[in-house]
Amino acid sequence: MPARAAALDAADPLAALRERFLLPKGVVYLDGNSLGALPAAVPPVLADAVERQWGTDLIRSWNDNSWWQAPLRVGDAIGRLIGAAPGQTLAGDSTSVQLFNALGAAARLRPGRPLLLTDPAHFPTDQYVADAVARLFGLQVLRVPAGDLPRLLAAEGDRVAVAGYSPVDYRTGELYDMAAVTGAVQRAGGLMLWDLCHAAGALPLRLDELGVDLAVGCGYKYLSGGPGAPAFLYVATRHQAAFDQPLTGWNGHAEPFGLSGGYTPAPGVGRARIGTPPILSLLALEAALTAFDGVDMARLRAKSLSLTGFFLDCADTLLAGLGFTAVTPRAPHRRGSQAVLRHPDAYALVRALAEQEVIGDMRAPDLLRFGVNALYLSHQDVLVAVRTLREVVLDGSHRQPRFQQRETVT
Ligand SMILES: *Cc1c(COP(=O)(O)O)cnc(C)c1O
Repeated sequence: MPARAAALDAADPLAALRERFLLPKGVVYLDGNSLGALPAAVPPVLADAVERQWGTDLIRSWNDNSWWQAPLRVGDAIGRLIGAAPGQTLAGDSTSVQLFNALGAAARLRPGRPLLLTDPAHFPTDQYVADAVARLFGLQVLRVPAGDLPRLLAAEGDRVAVAGYSPVDYRTGELYDMAAVTGAVQRAGGLMLWDLCHAAGALPLRLDELGVDLAVGCGYKYLSGGPGAPAFLYVATRHQAAFDQPLTGWNGHAEPFGLSGGYTPAPGVGRARIGTPPILSLLALEAALTAFDGVDMARLRAKSLSLTGFFLDCADTLLAGLGFTAVTPRAPHRRGSQAVLRHPDAYALVRALAEQEVIGDMRAPDLLRFGVNALYLSHQDVLVAVRTLREVVLDGSHRQPRFQQRETVT
């Protein structure tokens, strides 16, 4: 295993990208699918934003430092990573908020269709927002696993307004066929809304090419935009003129400084703006995205698959007989960018690992989740992580009572 890790790292064309991140020495960071590591470009940009732009230029910065345009400018930068031509992606607010507006707008784009489809395994916020939108618009939510969509669509397709799914299962790391799902939903006349939280920045995405209708995603996972970074919303050009979101605010008005009492939406995706954007967070996210400059997403994907594949191989060899089951699919085309193991002591193991500087996370009740950001991880990191896990299990250090106590954030 060590020789293979060394050989794979020596042949890695993306190895130098790690220098674009400020990772503490000795830490193996496998939680970039929850909070991406700090890109080196962020601190100086934030310092300038605070000291010069805010401190000195003050309110003039809305014009002089182009603060007003930041949501669209950062949106376009994200668009480049998700296969979206300019003018269709907007950065701001949280995924939950963007999802609420996207689902509500979708319902209005498909009047007379009462069904909203989502995945029973979808991230909780996606399910809660779907339920909330359904209540508000008098729709019905059907929770249908992606694999059962063809059957459901054959029976009830003409009643489906929108289907909201994630290409990657946030727990297991399973990757679905975006083209097949999109095509099936759209052939039934419904709209396809993808939640790209676990895909943007991790996989090559082709929203325009697939003809996706709507998408949302967050800025703090594989995009490494920082804690609570702004999310994004994609509205395909063909839907923009009729895009009518439930939560409207003055920033999305055609003439925000006309201060009119009635709402006239701005042209383009700018109509999806809501309130005053979080400029410091947007500028941090914008700087973070430069970590992708010149990076070929196909190459990044190849390295990610190599890392997750190597993880599963190491687990087979080093963790055999220790109570673990690999959960993430082996087939590369069915694997997102994380490796997940099942073990009854998942929580305590993840806590004990973190004390050994190997940081992953736990998803209830029994999954150890290791997110792989190929911009800054090496095969050596993967080997260290699995080896450390083996040591922890073998010496039983995770059995200490302090590792059993649940912290606020798991
Ligand atoms: C992380 C994640 C979210 C997070 O939503 P926020 O509103 O940003 O907290 C939503 N959906 C999915 C699928 C996620 O993975």
